[in-house]
Amino acid sequence: MKEEPFKKPKLGEKLMKGIAASPGVALGKVCIHKDVFSHVPTYAIEDNQIGSEIQRLKKAVEEVEEAIRRDHENIRRQLGYGGYGDAEIFSTHLSIIKDSHFLSEVFEKIATQRINAEASVLSQILKYEEIFSKMEDAYFRERMADIRDIGKRLIESLTGPMVLDCPFEEAVIIAGVELTPKDTVQFKRERVLAFITERGGRESHAAILARSMGIPAVLAIEGLLSRIERGDFLIIDGNLGFVVVNPPEGVIQEYRKTQEKLEAHRRNLETLIDYPAETLDGHRFKLMANIGNMVDLEFSIRFHADGIGLFRTELPFIIEDHFLSEEEQFGIYKKVAERMNPKEVTIRTLDFGGDKFLVSLRPEKNPFLGYRSTRAFLKEQEMLKTQIRAIFRASVHGKVKILFPMVSSVEEVRQLRGVVKEVEAEFIHKKVDFQRDIPIGVMVEIPSLAIMASKLMKEIDFVSIGTNDLVQYTLAVDRDNDLVSDLYQPLNPSILWLVKNVVEAGQAHGKSVSICGEIAGDPFYFPLLYGLGLREFSVAPVLILEIKEMAKRVTTKEASQIAERAMEMDSSKEIEQLLMASYPLNHD
Ligand code: PEP
Ligand code: MG
Repeated sequence: MKEEPFKKPKLGEKLMKGIAASPGVALGKVCIHKDVFSHVPTYAIEDNQIGSEIQRLKKAVEEVEEAIRRDHENIRRQLGYGGYGDAEIFSTHLSIIKDSHFLSEVFEKIATQRINAEASVLSQILKYEEIFSKMEDAYFRERMADIRDIGKRLIESLTGPMVLDCPFEEAVIIAGVELTPKDTVQFKRERVLAFITERGGRESHAAILARSMGIPAVLAIEGLLSRIERGDFLIIDGNLGFVVVNPPEGVIQEYRKTQEKLEAHRRNLETLIDYPAETLDGHRFKLMANIGNMVDLEFSIRFHADGIGLFRTELPFIIEDHFLSEEEQFGIYKKVAERMNPKEVTIRTLDFGGDKFLVSLRPEKNPFLGYRSTRAFLKEQEMLKTQIRAIFRASVHGKVKILFPMVSSVEEVRQLRGVVKEVEAEFIHKKVDFQRDIPIGVMVEIPSLAIMASKLMKEIDFVSIGTNDLVQYTLAVDRDNDLVSDLYQPLNPSILWLVKNVVEAGQAHGKSVSICGEIAGDPFYFPLLYGLGLREFSVAPVLILEIKEMAKRVTTKEASQIAERAMEMDSSKEIEQLLMASYPLNHD
C-alpha cells in the first residue's frame, strides 16, 4: 500500500529497510526464531559417555526411520497404489538413513572426536554440504536437501522439537532467517506483535498469512540477525518496511502516535460494516473473502463478506501437519458451508508445492514450475477424489463451488471435469446425497490460460484470477525471492492485458470472473481493477472495509477512464503514477 513518506528517524539510530509485507505498526521486544541447524547443542564428552551417546543416536535413528515409514505410509494410503510419489521418496530418504557410510561416520565421530551425538550429526551434514556443493551433477546437489532433512529429523529426535527461545511474558516481535507458512501459523496470534525476516517476498504465502492475521511484517532485511539480539526493543513499520532498533524515547512517542492514528482509522472503517460494497455512483459489486482457517471465517462473517471467494484448503493440512482424511475434510467444509449459508463458498482444491509443502513428494529444482497442485493431483487422482468427495458431502449443507488451482490448459480442465464426473457417478450409485451441478471453476493464474480465456469460458462455470501467481509466471519472477522483488510488478502492462482479456471473455460468455490475488484487497489497485470491468473481488477479510472505503470514493466512469489510460501505457511506473495521482491514499 502506498502511504505518506516515512519521517526519517534522527541520525545515530539503527534503521533497517526491508519489504513492507503486512501493514501496521508494532513496538516491542524481539525474540529470534532460529532454525534447527543454528541451534545444535555441542559439547565434549568423556570416554565413559561414548557408549551412552552411541545408544542415544541409535535410538534416534530408529525413531526417524519409523517416522519416515509412517509419513510415507500416510502418503501411500492417500495416493492409492502405484502412484508416482511412492517408491522414489521412500528410497531416497530411507537410503540416506540406511546408507552405512553416512551413518557409520556419525557414530565414528562420537568416539574419535569425543563429541555429543547432535554435534556429530551436524558435523557430518556440514561435511556432505561441502562435498556436494562442488559437484557438477544437479542430481547430487539436489540430494543435499534430503540429507539436511534427515539431519534435521535426527537432531530434533535427539534434542526435542525446536521451540522459540523467548523468556518474555508479553507478546513479542518474531525475527528469523525466513518464515514458512507453517512457521507463521505455529505461533499463537496473541503472542506475536510482528514478523521480521532476512528473506522472503511480499506475495509469499507466509506474508499472505501474516496479512490475513493482521500481523505487521517486514521481510528481506539484509543482515537482520547480525544486527539484533533477543530482547532488543524494536519498532516495526509494516506500511513502509522499516525496522528501528532500540530507538530513543522521542521516536517511540512518534510511532505510538502513528499507532493511535491507525487504530482510529480502523475504528472509523468499522462504521462501514453495515454498508453495502458499492461505488460512489451507487453500483453494487460483490466483495467476498479469502479464507484459510476458522479465524478468517469468523472475520468474514463479522465484516459481512458476500461469500467466500477463495478457501485455501491446504492451510488446514499445514496447520494439522498431516494429510486430512475425507472425514476430517468433510467436517471443515461442512462447517464453513453452514456458517456462510446461503452465501456461497468457493472451495479451492489443494494447492501444494511451490512454497507450500506438506510433504515434499520429490526434491525439485524449480518447485514453482514443477509438480504443484492440480498437475500433481491429476496424476495422484485418489487424493483429488478424496477431496472432491468431502466437498460433495458438504454441498448439501450450504452453497459450495469447486475451484481448481494451477490449471494451465483447456485439456486439463476437461480432465478435471472427468474426475468430478467419476465422483458424481459414484455418489449416484451409492445413493449419497449431494448438490447436483455444483459450479466448477478454475483459477486463472498461469498466463497460458489467461491467453486462452475465450476457449476456457466454454468449459467452466466461473473463473477466479489469481494475480499472485499470474504476475510470477508472466514476468518470470519468483514471488518469494527478495532478490527480484523489484521486478514483481502487478501493474506491468502485460498483466493488465491478461486481466482484461479474461474479463472480456467472461462478459462475452456470460461467465462470472472474480479476482482473488492480493492486489484485489489493496485499495490502491481498486479503481483500476474496477475500471477493467471486474465486479467480483475476494480479499483477506480484514481488508473488506478498506475496499468498501475506497469504492465510496470512485465512480464507474472515472474508473473506466483510468483503466483506458492505463491500457495505453507501457510501463508499470507510469501506471503507478496514474493511480497515485487519481486516488491518493490518505489514512490521517
Ligand atoms: C494467486 O495465485 O493469486 C492466489 C490467490 O493463490 P495463492 O496465493 O494461494 O497461490
Ligand atoms: Mg496461486
